[in-house]
Amino acid sequence: MRKVLKFGGSSMASAAQYAKVKSIVDYDASRSVVVVSAAGKRSKTDHKVTDLLYLCYAHMKYGVSVDSVFGMISDRYLEIRNELGLSTDLESELEKIRADMDDGISEDELASRGEYLSARLMADYLGFDFVDAAEWLRFKLDGSVDKDYSYAALRRLAEGRKIVIPGFYGLGPDGSIRTFTRGGSDITGALAAAALDAEIYENWTDVSGILMADPRIVENPEPIPRVTYTELRELSYLGAQVLHEDTIFPVAEKNIPLNIRNTNDPAHPGTIIMDHFDDDDGAEGHRFITGIAGKKDFSVVSVSKKGLSSQMGTMRKIFEIFEAHAVAVEYTPNGIDTVSLVVETKQLKKQADSIAADLIKAMEPDSLAITDGIAIVAAVGRKMARRPGISGQIFSALGAEGINIRLISQSPQEVNIIFGVENRDFNAAVRVLYNSFVK
Ligand code: ASP
Repeated sequence: MRKVLKFGGSSMASAAQYAKVKSIVDYDASRSVVVVSAAGKRSKTDHKVTDLLYLCYAHMKYGVSVDSVFGMISDRYLEIRNELGLSTDLESELEKIRADMDDGISEDELASRGEYLSARLMADYLGFDFVDAAEWLRFKLDGSVDKDYSYAALRRLAEGRKIVIPGFYGLGPDGSIRTFTRGGSDITGALAAAALDAEIYENWTDVSGILMADPRIVENPEPIPRVTYTELRELSYLGAQVLHEDTIFPVAEKNIPLNIRNTNDPAHPGTIIMDHFDDDDGAEGHRFITGIAGKKDFSVVSVSKKGLSSQMGTMRKIFEIFEAHAVAVEYTPNGIDTVSLVVETKQLKKQADSIAADLIKAMEPDSLAITDGIAIVAAVGRKMARRPGISGQIFSALGAEGINIRLISQSPQEVNIIFGVENRDFNAAVRVLYNSFVK
């Protein structure tokens, strides 16, 4: 069975990184499909090739010379090729791109050339065949991927071969190149894995998996060994970001395990993401929390009126007002006579006055209050379900540290416990959860 591997920008940044990729691929003969990103940063102050390509496009648009930026891109790839001692004819490729720029190349096509050049080089280096994404990955008119066409085409192209594919782009219905949104090579990898019914989709990056908490808040958090797709959605929604958010859908549909691995520490098992784990008992020891995520700067809009909950259509009327102002309601922790809506402050800000006016008109409330400066924290874990006492433990740990909880929300699936605290208590709340239930 095949394994599909995707290497991100940091794994493609230099000749030294290419060498690490080669030893990872060579280590296992079933690692036969490799998807690559454009060259990323070699250091904090370096530039990503994709950013430089977008910069070239902006230069073209405003009539500024592209020569120096295009020179930086060319130098990156020529340096990698020369250091690896390869004979790939990059000069003609670069000349063609440069000529297409003079002929008015589209922004998407220009942005896609980073992945294209990476894949050409990596194919030569690994001794694999190059298969262009434009040969199989097709978008529909509505911008979604035409999975039937794309999967069948890739199956045909990959048959009996070891291949390298550029990530991030495919062909639109008009036959021109079209990219995903930024970070989209993750999706290409997931589509390739689904198309080929891969045994596993290995996503190689520069961290040893998804961390249990934000490393800017918790010192050296441990990576999550195993997480379900549902848990990952919960964690990503509130800030934990390793993968493009659309990555999991193609692999989840086929229940193909997704393994996040570190190119710079290949012995580390990383994080495995699956629909469910059959042997879930004991694998993570006593822990019932899989990960902790959260975000600051929410506002709570509270509408109070005697008998509010018993009035028909209350929620509908309130939601319609937020919908009309295009403000997304995140959570609704309610009391008997109070409906509270948690929304992002940055969305609410400009519209607060007109939303308040509409609420007063429609609901005639006894009072209406808007509280800013709320942070949302989520403890996420599939093992919390049907286990009595978990929220009690969480809230007493927070109480013992003097952290006041402003609101609570838990879905009946019990995969998360979400609560709101003051912005200033956010870091402390995350640390209390980590120190009490993970360490
Ligand atoms: N190179 C593209 C970007 O920087 C796509 C990717 O790396 O996934 O967004």
